[in-house]
Amino acid sequence: MLDVRDLSIAYQGSIAALRGVSLTVPEGGIVALVGNNGAGKTTLLRAVSQNLRRHRGRITGGEIRFDGEPLHGGGPEESFRRGIVQVPEGRRIFGTLTVEENLRLAAASAGGRRDRQAIQRVYDLFPVLGDRRRQRGLLLSGGEQQMLAIGRALAAAPRLLMLDEPSLGLAPRTAARVMAAVGQLNADGMAVLLVEQNAALALRLARHAYVLELGRVSLDGPGERLREDPEVRRLYLGGS
Ligand code: ATP
Repeated sequence: MLDVRDLSIAYQGSIAALRGVSLTVPEGGIVALVGNNGAGKTTLLRAVSQNLRRHRGRITGGEIRFDGEPLHGGGPEESFRRGIVQVPEGRRIFGTLTVEENLRLAAASAGGRRDRQAIQRVYDLFPVLGDRRRQRGLLLSGGEQQMLAIGRALAAAPRLLMLDEPSLGLAPRTAARVMAAVGQLNADGMAVLLVEQNAALALRLARHAYVLELGRVSLDGPGERLREDPEVRRLYLGGS
């Protein structure tokens, strides 16, 4: 479904952020990208959502195909139209709007005609959002805000859902709950590309995972196998 081939990316005034990265997300697959700060994970997501220009980055080599067709350089609108939806970094939600208004707005801007159904699906996945539907976004906890940010992406009925560090700053139990919901979405057929610094969580969930180091893929394989890998354990799983 998503096919990234030999992708290289540079930002203005800095050295290459990605150097010849190849990665595949199959139809209905769940793939994780792990690695330290600055390894290039966010950069890869920006390339797929065609959001590099705003960050003064550009593709210097390779290509990205979605459903066998290259991305045509149409910017974020093209990726979105083709079904690639990213949960924005930093859980961007509208703090002064209620939970339900946030979801309705997202469904409407995605041109969803069946937005009631889309919103109900979000409440089924995150019942706490249903309980708080009339509460303003800024009064939600960090975990609830992350759920709402994911819910807003879901209201656009993505074919490929991309998440950038969904567990960041969440208490372990909340992070586990968010990850379980991501697993549920994938079990229901949605393809997922997950960026995580929390390798322990990501490798448990992902069928296939890639380790990025300084802009290159240093290792990839089934999540299960990477969890057993001594290097991965030492570098990313705290030796545990
Ligand atoms: P993090 O977890 O910190 O987001 P990451 O793995 O997602 O890390 P990227 O944010 O993709 O890494 O960064 C990859 C490299 O590109 C880093 O060296 C970073 O300093 C650089 N970089 C990222 N964004 C920009 C930018 N807008 N301008 C210049 N350099 C950038």
